[in-house]
Parts: sequence; structure tokens; C-alpha cells
Amino acid sequence: MVNFLDLKKINNRFLDEINSRIEKILDKGWYLQGEENEIFSKNFAEFCGTKYALGVANGLDALNLIIKASGFGVGDEIIVPANTYIATILAISQNGCTPVLVEPDINTYNINPDLIEEKITPKTKAIMVVHLYGQAVQMQKIWDLAKKYNLKVFEDSAQAHGAIYNNKRTGNLSDASAFSFYPGKNLGCMGDGGAITTNDEELFKKIKAIANYGSDRKYHHIYKGVNSRLDEIQAAILDIKLKHLDSDNQKRREISKFYRENIKNNKIILPKTYDEKAHVWHVFTVRTKNRDAFQEYLKNNDIQTIIHYPTPPHKQGAYKEWNNLSYPITEEIHNTIISLPISPVMTMDEISKVVEVVNGY
Ligand SMILES: *Cc1c(COP(=O)(O)O)cnc(C)c1O
Repeated sequence: MVNFLDLKKINNRFLDEINSRIEKILDKGWYLQGEENEIFSKNFAEFCGTKYALGVANGLDALNLIIKASGFGVGDEIIVPANTYIATILAISQNGCTPVLVEPDINTYNINPDLIEEKITPKTKAIMVVHLYGQAVQMQKIWDLAKKYNLKVFEDSAQAHGAIYNNKRTGNLSDASAFSFYPGKNLGCMGDGGAITTNDEELFKKIKAIANYGSDRKYHHIYKGVNSRLDEIQAAILDIKLKHLDSDNQKRREISKFYRENIKNNKIILPKTYDEKAHVWHVFTVRTKNRDAFQEYLKNNDIQTIIHYPTPPHKQGAYKEWNNLSYPITEEIHNTIISLPISPVMTMDEISKVVEVVNGY
């Protein structure tokens, strides 16, 4: 069986280091807002190239905090790709803002910058890009629009830790960026975790206070805040794994290249990248007409796959008000996409088997 993602195998590579660091934390007896968070946030900011980083409880909280701290709420519109994981859109709604959906580019699966301007209104406050499947959005046109209309730009970098656009990493391509460290992400912890990166000192201070019950110092509450923390054990695990993120991403790139060079089947559409550095291959998606039959065929040949994602946000029960709207490119992607196994611990045998089975379809 070729597993989609063997998390245990991924983490076992660092088990000794993780165990000894956890032991130190347990010995110290300090579980939240301590030294491990200080170390990890400093190292993660340095990795992304930003001035600041803050660990939070999960990726959805990171997105929520960015919007809340920016002061956006009821009546404000935020532009977002129609084909994202629902968290990006939920964070906008949960702040009372209106998500304005924009279709993706069928070649990159990222938001199509040429379709954004027609959606800008006097109520538009920000553009939230998503570096989907691990590929950094080509930001230049988005930066130009933001400048022209005086909008903020935010990133949902939950799938693209380490990807590079214009010599800068994701997390450093906008006013503020949200990361998730959900176990299956390219940088994943052993539970829930997330982070926010930014170069804006004022915004950072506000985010930090809001994440801590709105408090800028103990028992002094200046905002109606929330509680969103990364615990010390997760911060330590992430700090250990961060050192291997670039080499893990490189392995993903090599597998992706092997797939792209060796999968030869005219029923299968392979993913594309505009620049090898821009993509960290969080998932390796292919498209095919009879997707469900293809998935069944792969399963019968011992290859585990996942669909990212079967139903677009505008067709979900949570957004009944959008169910009759039509986003044809988004729908086409959701109807045809399927993710093949890719991970830094796959063996050459497993990689070859995937190619062989896909080519035999
Ligand atoms: C995983 C993910 C999130 C949410 O992260 P959680 O840590 O699960 O809250 C948000 N956006 C995208 C694009 C994701 O893939």
C-alpha cells in the first residue's frame, strides 16, 4: 500500500530530539507563553524573512486574528479565491465581513489576478490570497491593484511554508500572513498550531494583544480579545522540524519533477508551476474526467489518494445563500481534481509504483 501521507514516518525521523526537548519542558513545568514560543517565533520569522511572527492555536485563528486586528467588520468586503479550503472564507464571514469570490487561473489553481479589479467596490478593504496546494501566488498584479485602490493584502500560507516568489518567502509577500501547522501540512506539529507573520509593528502588537484576551500587559484589557495560543510542546516540535523544512520541500520538488516527467497518460492533466522555487508541493494534484473511477482504480492498485476538495465553498450547506451561484472554473477543478501521494519520506519504490499504476490507467 502506498500511503497518501505517513505522518508517523515523517515525525519518527526526529523522535529522539523531540523526546529530549519535551522532557526538558516537562522538567521545567512551563507549558504556555514561554521560552519555546520565543525561540520558535524568532526562528520562524527569520525563515520567512519577516520582522515578526506569533504562534497561535491554529490556522483558522491566524486568519481570523489578522482580519480582526485590521479593524475590518460588518459592511467590509474582502476578495478571496472561490476555490480554497473553507477556512479562508469562514475567517472573513466570522468577522462579519463579506467574502467576494474570484475564480482561479486553471493553470496555477491560484486566484486569477486579471479577474480581481472588476470585483473591487468602495466597500473593498483587502485581498486575501491563498497559496493553494503549495504554489506561491504571482503577487505583482495584486500588489499593483492594492496600491491603486488602497487595499490591504493578506496571505493564507497554510499550504505553502517555504515557497518563494520574487526571492521572498510566503508569509513575507503581504501585510500579514496566516500559517497552519496542522499535522499534515509541510510544517506540521503533533496537534493543532498556527502562526501569523508580518512586518507591520503596530499590527503585530495588536494581533498579539487580541490573541491574549485583548491584553497588552497582565490584567489590562484594551480589546475584546480571544484566547489563541501555541503551546510550548508544539512550539518545540515545530522548531525542531523547521530546520528540515527546506530539505523536506526539496524532496517534494524532486518527487513532483519525477511525476511530471514520467507520468505519460493523455487522460491525466498534470499540475504546472511557473518556477520550481515557487512550489513546495503540499499536494500533487492531477485532473481527470472520470475522477471517481480513477480514484477507485488507484485504490484497487493499493495507492491511497485524497480529493482537495470534493465540494467548493459556494456549494456547501454553510453558504446556502451562494448555492445557486456559478463559478465554472472552480467547479471544474473540484469535479476533476485528485491528489496523488507525495511526502519527504516516500521511497523510490513507492514513487515508481505510483507512476507505473497511473500510466497503466
Ligand atoms: C489547513 C488550512 C487552513 C486551516 O488551518 P487549521 O490549522 O486547520 O485551522 C486554512 N487555510 C488553508 C488553505 C488550509 O489548507
